Amino acid sequence: MEIKKDGLKEIILSISDAIMDKVDYLTELDAKIGDGDHGVNMAKGFARIKEDLKGYDGNDIGEILILSGKVLLNEIGGALGPLYGGGLIKAGIALKGKEMLQKKDIYTLFSTLLSSVKELGKAKVGDKTMVDTLEPFVDEYGKKINTDNVKVSFGAALLKAKEGMESTKGMVSRIGRSSRLLERSKGHLDVGAASSYLILKTFYNSIINT
Ligand code: ADP
Ligand code: MG
Repeated sequence: MEIKKDGLKEIILSISDAIMDKVDYLTELDAKIGDGDHGVNMAKGFARIKEDLKGYDGNDIGEILILSGKVLLNEIGGALGPLYGGGLIKAGIALKGKEMLQKKDIYTLFSTLLSSVKELGKAKVGDKTMVDTLEPFVDEYGKKINTDNVKVSFGAALLKAKEGMESTKGMVSRIGRSSRLLERSKGHLDVGAASSYLILKTFYNSIINT
């Protein structure tokens, strides 16, 4: 299986739709232990990306990711701008010149996003952030990369991502805005962990339909 430019555009459009669909859910999660802006900022960011992609007629997967990352980094507030935006730009640089995404390129995409988030935000697994979703995903996908086809690897990794997201509920936040609440941050899912899972799940739904 390979994803060409149009395939990636489709995936990004589906992610945008999925976020629109879940904007209230994300807002609610962020309102519980944060400031409530995550859903709206994600929706705004992906709506802009959708618009900007209409004007892109090149074939470079890396450029599409860089363009998307720049929208989030430069135009969207909250921690997600630099974290997701910076990560997508780095992933785009790593994949520059590619006209299709194959199994190992999908690994490059998400492992680069994860390392960028960790480098910038300094969060580790257990700190109650998006890293709790992304890291188990990348680890599992990496383990399965030589044995399974992309749909199987992605599906197995997605299960780990879901477990990781759910594990944030019992955690005390150690990083970001919600860390100010100390023990009171316990008992709620982390919104970034939830949005990362939503992105991965939508990506998966798109590839299993191809
Ligand atoms: P803000 O907290 O500035 O309002 P958002 O609401 O956009 O930012 O995003 C909050 C999410 O960002 C958190 O739920 C968490 O997953 C993630 N996050 C915040 N700070 C960090 C960090 N330093 N490293 C990794 N993820 C972080
Ligand atoms: Mg917020």
